[in-house]
Order: sequence, then C-alpha cells, then structure tokens
Amino acid sequence: MDKALAQKVIDRIASAKSPALFTHLRPDGDAFGSLLGLAHVLKDRGQNPSLVQDVPDQLPSEADLFVVLDTSTRERVGKKTTDWKKPVDVVIDHHVSNPGFGTLNLIVPEIPATAGVLYRLFEMAGWKVSPATATCLYAGLSTDTGSFRYRGTDAQTLRIAASLVDLGADPSDIAKHCYLSVTPQRYQLKKLTIETLSLKDNKKSGFLTIFPDFYSKSGAKSEDTEGIIEEVTCIQGLEVASLFEFGPEGGLRVSLRSKGRVDVNAIASSLGGGGHRAAAGIRFPKDGEKNRDRVLAAISKAISALED
Ligand code: AMP
Ligand code: MN
Ligand code: MN
Repeated sequence: MDKALAQKVIDRIASAKSPALFTHLRPDGDAFGSLLGLAHVLKDRGQNPSLVQDVPDQLPSEADLFVVLDTSTRERVGKKTTDWKKPVDVVIDHHVSNPGFGTLNLIVPEIPATAGVLYRLFEMAGWKVSPATATCLYAGLSTDTGSFRYRGTDAQTLRIAASLVDLGADPSDIAKHCYLSVTPQRYQLKKLTIETLSLKDNKKSGFLTIFPDFYSKSGAKSEDTEGIIEEVTCIQGLEVASLFEFGPEGGLRVSLRSKGRVDVNAIASSLGGGGHRAAAGIRFPKDGEKNRDRVLAAISKAISALED
C-alpha cells in the first residue's frame, strides 16, 4: 500500500464532518462490510457519516465528502450519479481494473478485499477498530476471498483476519450469518439455476442460465443470485464458470469465475466489463443472446490457448 497516498486519504477523511459513503450496485459482502466498517469508525471518531444504499437523485446537500468503496467503475456507483456536479473525492478499492475515477484513489489489488484495505488504513491512522467494526471488516474479507480459499488469499490476508479476530470478530458467528442462512426462496432459485448447467470446451468451461421467470417460480430476489456460480466452479477439471442472467427486457448480466489459469478480467474488460483475474462481470443492456454467444466464444478462445 502506498503510504503517502494512504496518508492523504486519511487526512481527507479525517477533516470531513459529514462524509457520504457509497458502494457498488448489487452490493456483496465486501461492499456492505466496507461501508458499515468505515461508518462505525467514523461515528466512533465523532464524525457524522451517511450510508448511501438506495442511490438518491442528488448527493445529500449536507455531505462534505463523497467516498466510494469497493467499486471498480464510476457507472457501478449508479448511472444517475454520473452527472452529479461533485466529483468523487475518495475511492478506496482493490479491483485491478479500477481506472481511479476519484480525486484520491487508494486502489490496492494485492489485498483481496476492500475491507482489508480499510483495516490497513485504520491501523495506519491509529483509528479505533471496535468489535462491531472488526465484525464488518472480517465479513467483507471472508466473503471476497470465498472463505479464504481464493488465490488472492496470502499470509497478509490471514494476518489481517487474525488481527480482526483479536479485535472482536467471531469467525464462526460471522460464517453462520454469511453462509448458513440461505432463505428457502434463494435455495429454490439455486436449484432451478443449477438444473441449467451446460458443460463445453471439453468440460473445461461450464455455464448456468437464469431466466426471468425463475424469480416468480422461486420467490427469490435479484440479490439471491450471489454465490450460485461457485456451485459450478467446484467441478473438477473446469477452468472457467459463467452465469448468464437474462433480464425481462432482453439485457444480460454476466458473472465469470476462473480457477486461476484463465484471466476472466481480460475477457470481461474486452467486452465492456471488469473485475479481477479470477472473478469478473459484464452487463449488457440489450441483445442478451448475441452477447452471451460473444462471451462464450471469448471463453472458448481463452481455454484453447491454454497449454495442457
Ligand atoms: P459478480 O460476478 O457480480 O460477483 O462480480 C465479480 C467481480 O467482477 C466483482 O468484483 C465486480 O466488482 C466485478 N464486476 C462485475 N460486473 C462488472 C461490470 N459490469 N463492470 C465492471 N466490473 C464488474
Ligand atoms: Mn464487491
Ligand atoms: Mn471487493
């Protein structure tokens, strides 16, 4: 982590009275963990943060700092925020593909979750990490590393996790809330989706499809798709897993996962999306089927380029 840059971020955040904290659309565990973790720390310091989940039409007028967490592109803060007059003051993130769309950009790809970047920042600033903060940050770190299984997990990740446990995070309790509390509706959506599995490229790639009527059939909500793709990644011999979600208006949302040999960020970035080497995504507003075929073709090409 660039210490001089981190210090600038600390000074900028410390001097704000009412920072407005944002994260990406369809927030995941790292998005929520980072948002809530930073909010706890700022509250404990006597600042007055506001957490923005439902994107408003304008930046709240009392906000004197615009912070965006865990978000790889400006659009993923929410389309309607892109024409706000106030620029993003501070971006804190870990996506390699992040272009740095803020005035200050602390982007640390060597830490596998924004929650981990925040922990290092708080440590440097000497800001108190309460048990509530530690719990939020641990949840972000755990979910973004697939429970410390993905490639980005290294000794530093585990050291950060250990420090958070020292500070009051309870791994088993957090795991219970993050992984052992699936609603029956979410489970039903997963069941319908897994039935669609199709293997190709000599069983080195596999894809799942979510059709619009799966929501009425299961009673699930759009955020209930989180984690389904991991059910494909686990297949032995598979290199790339993808999930295609067709929207009711013909759009397509794509999730890509790699076991490490194929760079899915390169595939996603070449088609207008982004993410990390092992987990990336793309959103197409229209031409769902045509775009699914483009993604599948790019995956086949990447797999055929691998040496066995
Ligand atoms: P997901 O498959 O939605 O869990 O996303 C996997 C990763 O790719 C996350 O780290 C996202 O930040 C990133 N990502 C997903 N969709 C997009 C997109 N449309 N543009 C840029 N990055 C994305
Ligand atoms: Mn995220
Ligand atoms: Mn993240």
